[in-house]
Amino acid sequence: MGRVAIVTGGTRGIGEAISMALRDEGMTVAANYAGNDERAREFTERTGIKAYKWDVSDYDACQQGVKQIEAELGPVDVLVNNAGITRDTTMKRMDHQKWQEVIDTNLGGCFNMAKAVFEGMQSRGYGRIVNIGSINGQAGQYGQVNYAAAKSGIHGFTKALAQEGARNGVTVNAIAPGYIDTDMVAAVPEEVLGKIIAKIPVNRLGKASEIARGVTFLVGEEAGFVTGSTLSINGGQHMY
Ligand code: NDP
Repeated sequence: MGRVAIVTGGTRGIGEAISMALRDEGMTVAANYAGNDERAREFTERTGIKAYKWDVSDYDACQQGVKQIEAELGPVDVLVNNAGITRDTTMKRMDHQKWQEVIDTNLGGCFNMAKAVFEGMQSRGYGRIVNIGSINGQAGQYGQVNYAAAKSGIHGFTKALAQEGARNGVTVNAIAPGYIDTDMVAAVPEEVLGKIIAKIPVNRLGKASEIARGVTFLVGEEAGFVTGSTLSINGGQHMY
């Protein structure tokens, strides 16, 4: 029987590519999203993947959402924590709300979702969790203290949880994408984007499918020895 996978923020951008790639691997995929019903409906019609709406920053909603998916599709074997937002501005202009929303969604969402599936994975002796970090969590970025802190936190979260899952067949890894051609990057002003691309050795933005390729590797049955790692997929923009 195919594995059951949840992809948060799985109806658009990188998440959409991940949902489709996991479906193509034979998994039964549940794609979560926050509020864009129009895009979710169009996604489901086009891909046949069912979409589930809840806010990953809401702890109870995550427990509820996972319960519903388990009742409909069966126990969750794969979790991809992809949902993320930006609220970019300099420290001077960053109010507490912009800080908190990004921390609660990008980092809190990983905890809320992992909490809902981790024990089940451990007790069944199999699980794959992939958390989508960012190059800006590795290197920092002007105007993103909130986002860089949350994404950097994801990398620590990944390494700590990997140690807890290791003995029970549950791997936990992260991917740190560079700049990928999605709605999120389309929001960056054109002149800033030009400067960013000039710094990418591969000389272009990445594609969402190139991140999905990394996810399919990390969630593969044969990837059981890969845990606690961060896979950088960034066109050579940041190497360490
Ligand atoms: P998009 O803005 O294109 O899509 C974001 C997705 O996340 C949407 O499906 C959105 O749902 C969902 N989402 C947002 N907030 C929540 C929430 N609170 N609860 C549930 N779902 C939510 O983002 P990208 O595809 O560009 O980015 C995906 C991930 O990759 C993010 O974590 C991002 O930080 C990371 N990343 C992206 C990079 C890039 O260059 N694009 C670079 C590095 C990392 P809805 O459609 O309902 O709004």
